[in-house]
Amino acid sequence: MSEYFDVCVIGAGVVGCAAARELSKYDLTICVLEKEEDVCSGTSKANSGIVHAGHDAKPGTMKARMNLRGNALIKELSKTLDFHFRQNGSMVLCFDENDLPALEELYERGVANGVEGLKIVSGDEAREMESALSDKVVASLVSPAGGIVCPFGMTVAFAENAAENGAKFRFLTEVTGIEKTDEGYKIETDRGKIAAKYVVNAAGVYADRFHNMVSDRKIHITPRKGEYVLLDREVGGLTDHTIFQLPGKYGKGVLVTPTVHGNLLTGPTAVDIDDKEDTSTTADGTSSVKERASLSVPSVPYGKTITGFSGLRAHEDGGDFIIGEAEGAKGFFDCAGIESPGLTSAPAIGEYISELIARASGAKKKENFVSERRGIPEVAKLPPEERAKLIKENPAYGRIVCRCEEISEGEIVDAIRRVPGAVSLDGIKRRVRQGMGRCQAGFCTPLAMEILARELGIPMEKVTKNRPGSEQITG
Ligand SMILES: Cc1cc2nc3c(=O)[nH]c(=O)nc-3n(C[C@H](O)[C@H](O)[C@H](O)COP(=O)(O)OP(=O)(O)OC[C@H]3O[C@@H](n4cnc5c(N)ncnc54)[C@H](O)[C@@H]3O)c2cc1C
Repeated sequence: MSEYFDVCVIGAGVVGCAAARELSKYDLTICVLEKEEDVCSGTSKANSGIVHAGHDAKPGTMKARMNLRGNALIKELSKTLDFHFRQNGSMVLCFDENDLPALEELYERGVANGVEGLKIVSGDEAREMESALSDKVVASLVSPAGGIVCPFGMTVAFAENAAENGAKFRFLTEVTGIEKTDEGYKIETDRGKIAAKYVVNAAGVYADRFHNMVSDRKIHITPRKGEYVLLDREVGGLTDHTIFQLPGKYGKGVLVTPTVHGNLLTGPTAVDIDDKEDTSTTADGTSSVKERASLSVPSVPYGKTITGFSGLRAHEDGGDFIIGEAEGAKGFFDCAGIESPGLTSAPAIGEYISELIARASGAKKKENFVSERRGIPEVAKLPPEERAKLIKENPAYGRIVCRCEEISEGEIVDAIRRVPGAVSLDGIKRRVRQGMGRCQAGFCTPLAMEILARELGIPMEKVTKNRPGSEQITG
């Protein structure tokens, strides 16, 4: 017999986790199925981390609506759920007088979408705000509502809070088929069958696959690759705002931005590909990022590069987010085509989907919903007395494992013991930043492996970087 849940969420990216958290406010049994070993293993782990102000999407679209609501929610949730967010503001640069009408159009679009505080400044005013900007900048759209967020921190926070409120997470569980039944849906996985009254399709670049299994109105998602170059924290202060480029004769443009953890990020490219798993980086991609980012900020010190990475946008042919009950598939709710600004929009998408399901099911809000969650203490950033107190209570917080980011054994143990907790080196990295620094885990990996092996009760040969098959040592 199949296990039964009221709602089954496919995919534990930021959208699936946000939906699970919102659904867990209701009297519903919830299960999240994820093919990888952890949350935040798809596109949610590889993006710009920008909380968009909301001037890009066309007024009236789902993208515009979710972006605006998500921007407001993230600000609030970063406090309630304790993840890193900073409202640093953003600037869209214009390099050519002929493109000024396009900049003004962006301004008007933002106003129509309800973005507050937008203004256009001259090139000189822009350089006064950000001294590293190029002399070629002729004007800029400034948006104080723009921000930056930790994509891992936000996704993990949604997942932990959903789990605390009863949602069950099943990792390394790949959905292989979905069938409509009289009661709802039968979901086939490589670990057995699950029955659910409602399905939330939050499968990222694979969302078209599941949608098309149940609806006659077919959709199509193209993976659109974006490559990045990430620089050391030493140069993270080169700009304070997120610096975008106005799409124009130089192409779609790349950004230069500080991250919430103080690094400098440049990218992404935009190339349509066929392979939904291809997150490789390329020499061409890296050169293109460098060349185009230096149009905005000529002095980006690429000698301070620490790594490159890429992510895949889930671009649906129609160009907008597809959110809601799929045509001809009662009880099957899509969160499909969630490309940028999907990270920004995730809490709003979760809220919207859960309201639709609550209405369809008649589920009531729980009285005992726990709305708050505290993150793992960042020991190195604590005031000295608090740090000393914590180390006295638990000496593991005093044993530094990752020297670049100053991450202690205690924080790594916390990352593993949380629910859902880290079961791989990447899982630890995304939760507490061990290995995220200048040496990119070159020195601390063996120690982190020892801690994982000890905590999970497995031999060192079984410790993986991410999914099974990524073991680090043999014999
Ligand atoms: C280059 C780039 C830059 C971006 N920059 C920004 C930005 O700055 N700001 C912003 O707001 N947005 C940005 N985005 C968009 C944002 O990252 C995404 O919209 C968001 O992460 C999508 O989340 P998701 O949960 O829908 O998808 P994902 O994170 O991909 O999650 C889907 C999950 O489903 C799982 N899954 C798939 N198939 C199955 C299956 N068969 N069984 C079980 N599980 C399955 C996957 O493993 C994955 O974990 C960017 C995207 C890219 C690629």
